[in-house]
Amino acid sequence: MKTRSSNTWSNWAGNQTSNPLSIKKPRNEQEVVDIVKEAKKRGLKVKVVGSGHSFTGIAVTDEVLISLDEIVDIRDVDFENSTVRVGAGIKLCDLNPILQRSGLALPNLGDIVYQSISGAISTSTHGTGLEFKTIAEAVCGMRIVDGEGSVVECDTQQNSEILHAARVGLGALGVITEVTIQCVEAFNLHAVEEILPIGEVTNNFDHWSTTTDHIEFFWMPNTDKALLKRNTRTLEEPLRPRNKRHALKRRWNRFKNEEIKQNFLFGAMNHLGKIAPPLVPKLNSMVAGENGRAEYITTSYEVFASPRRVRFYEMEYAVPVESGIEAFQRVVQLIGDLDHYISFPVEYRVLGKDSIPMSTASDRDSAFIAVHVFRNTSFDKYFQGVEKIMADYDGRPHWGKLHFQNHETLSKIYPQWETFQNVRGLMDPLGIFSNPYLDKVLGPLP
Ligand SMILES: Cc1cc2nc3c(=O)[nH]c(=O)nc-3n(C[C@H](O)[C@H](O)[C@H](O)COP(=O)(O)OP(=O)(O)OC[C@H]3O[C@@H](n4cnc5c(N)ncnc54)[C@H](O)[C@@H]3O)c2cc1C
Repeated sequence: MKTRSSNTWSNWAGNQTSNPLSIKKPRNEQEVVDIVKEAKKRGLKVKVVGSGHSFTGIAVTDEVLISLDEIVDIRDVDFENSTVRVGAGIKLCDLNPILQRSGLALPNLGDIVYQSISGAISTSTHGTGLEFKTIAEAVCGMRIVDGEGSVVECDTQQNSEILHAARVGLGALGVITEVTIQCVEAFNLHAVEEILPIGEVTNNFDHWSTTTDHIEFFWMPNTDKALLKRNTRTLEEPLRPRNKRHALKRRWNRFKNEEIKQNFLFGAMNHLGKIAPPLVPKLNSMVAGENGRAEYITTSYEVFASPRRVRFYEMEYAVPVESGIEAFQRVVQLIGDLDHYISFPVEYRVLGKDSIPMSTASDRDSAFIAVHVFRNTSFDKYFQGVEKIMADYDGRPHWGKLHFQNHETLSKIYPQWETFQNVRGLMDPLGIFSNPYLDKVLGPLP
């Protein structure tokens, strides 16, 4: 008999909650093995949660929940090959400064670093840049506890077909306990951020994206403006502050931009827009008009990621890069036709293809279009409208962001679907790592 405990869990956005029978915090791989074997004996399902930053139910369980918050050690730094071996629960925000001190860095990052390394790779988390790839693509080795409780070691030499699939495993293949990452030499980014007319951005974006390392834009609905961010990799040193006063001023400017404008004021405007929706276009214009031009050079991970304190719900779709701008323009049209205002920006990024079966950029260079709404706001009509547009381009939803698809639709847009399912059958024949979200998007076990 299953006895229900008073454990509760919820994700960052607060739209997914659960009451696990038990929450386990193993301190090492052997304890993970014991938990999986015990769960199997009792007929229970197991789910690992990283930082709970997925918007979908991908990490939800009412049975055994595992947190790897105690398995976060740095096991080895191989300076010759620029690889690092880490405990699978480590958060990117803890890993980045450690790598920096060793003269290394992750090749690319998304716009936050709160995720665990395993959670980030498992959902195909990405940043931007046509010459760069998903975070998972940098993974060159893993240790995974499978559905039998056995430890599977995989890298490019042994069990390489498992590594191939498990880099974006959706949490469906087992408990990752260790990850080896191919890093690059630490680098700085020369960042240029500016507000431009959206027409200028969309007319030039495809060209700019082939000449800029990392490029993205945020369009503010009901305005004709977009924030364009262009980051160029450099070994040039960050400009040193001239004196203490200059250093303080810089710190204040950064705090003003990231904490006051992007978080505090933006949050306040969203609350206001919720109470008085007709104000939204005016508030959006204020947000778009508030930022000036900024140019600076600093450590890569500090440029890629920013704090995100205003909670929201998000959907993101990957489409072939050549159709990206057209798909974006249809989203603009859709927002104009909605019977309510949208108070969050639409984000546009690009990424190079990889060969990972369940990567959203699998086998095709991709444009990513992300739409957001303020937390506790209805999104069905907006997100369903966007999804309908994306279907015309064989759009692939981010595994960790909201969507309405199922395995019947998804299996048609992933050329290596069967490859993944075969590895899933091998690693988890009894479906011990399944949950309702995985049942929906991956379907029955092969
Ligand atoms: C504010 C915000 C900003 C974001 N920005 C970006 C962005 O820029 N780019 C982008 O692509 N995405 C972005 N995301 C989405 C986010 O990167 C993904 O949802 C990511 O999976 C979250 O990592 P996590 O550690 O919280 O994983 P969780 O959400 O906790 O889990 C995700 C999946 O990973 C599995 N998992 C976790 N650890 C293990 C393990 N050890 N073994 C096996 N499976 C495991 C879980 O079971 C689950 O299936 C953002 C999300 C938020 C909330």
